[in-house]
Amino acid sequence: MKFLILGLFMLGLFLGLSAGPKDDHVYQVISSHPHDVEELKNHTETIHQKGRLWIVRLKENAPKELLEHLRPLRGGEDHYSFVGRLITNKVFKSKPVDYRGLINQLSLENIKNEVYWLSNFETRYAGSDENQLATNGVAKKLESLGYTVKKICYHPEACSLVAEKTGTILNREVIMVMGHIDSVGEYFAGADDNASGVSVILEMARVLKDYNNNKTIRFFISNGEELGLIGSTQYATQLERAKQLKNISLVINMDMVGYNTTGVVELETDPEFEEHAQWMAGVAAKYTKLKTKISLGAYGSDHVPFLQRGVPTVQTIEDWENKNPCYHMECDRPDALNYEYATEVARLNLAAVLLKDNE
Ligand SMILES: [Zn+2]
Repeated sequence: MKFLILGLFMLGLFLGLSAGPKDDHVYQVISSHPHDVEELKNHTETIHQKGRLWIVRLKENAPKELLEHLRPLRGGEDHYSFVGRLITNKVFKSKPVDYRGLINQLSLENIKNEVYWLSNFETRYAGSDENQLATNGVAKKLESLGYTVKKICYHPEACSLVAEKTGTILNREVIMVMGHIDSVGEYFAGADDNASGVSVILEMARVLKDYNNNKTIRFFISNGEELGLIGSTQYATQLERAKQLKNISLVINMDMVGYNTTGVVELETDPEFEEHAQWMAGVAAKYTKLKTKISLGAYGSDHVPFLQRGVPTVQTIEDWENKNPCYHMECDRPDALNYEYATEVARLNLAAVLLKDNE
């Protein structure tokens, strides 16, 4: 059912009334993406094409996967006994995704530089001038990477950012990564909480900028987290009203991913979403050096408003038993952070996004 809703590409088994079901290699294709039509042409011969109506015959050597991803649709066309079939993006992928190649592009130096940059605003307290400068600076960086960036403000002087790269195939399905930009207001602080999370987002966005994403990849930079999850609650409510929460297949929140001495990352969610945390733990085992600890019972950060609304959300956060001793203090400075660790968290979250995108 999900496929029916999401399907932008329908490869329909076309059974003309006159032809009957014998000619089972003839398909109707509906696609608005010339790129994918080109891909499909490698495996088909065109029988008829008019406007968006395109009827093809599969070549003998068409990949088996093409058929594996077909499924019947109900409904019909006026003149045909029509059994539509849907094809997922997998068959259109000309090249396999080089997960490790992409993950290895993540740069520790870039993450570190961004943490230093964000920690050099006098404060990032939500609503302050410096918070706005930092937020605008992040928006500019994301725009220069090719993302479309929207501001969502809960107050004229306190805005969150939504940066998006629309999916080329299943563009209604969304994978979201978020982290808060505001700090508790200590001067020149908030390096771990949460310049680290925003810096990892910027680095993930850089690596993903030329990646051909199937689904829509969205980064949400929240504001007012420290004042009571204001920006994330506002955005979750807005998506709920627009009935867009159901399109989100996974949300990853990063809050404090820079201080660590144990190699442990916590994967925090609510019990009903434990399987998502387990899945992330598997990703971590395969693509990172991190040890994972699953904590069930989300509290105190931007994942909460999404979990409360039934969205699968996992927070990646440093080992809370050995958390930053400068938590919410003026000494939360960039020189105390472990950038190898932050880069490992970036590897985990980038791998998760890429794998979700190709599910
Ligand atoms: Zn925080």
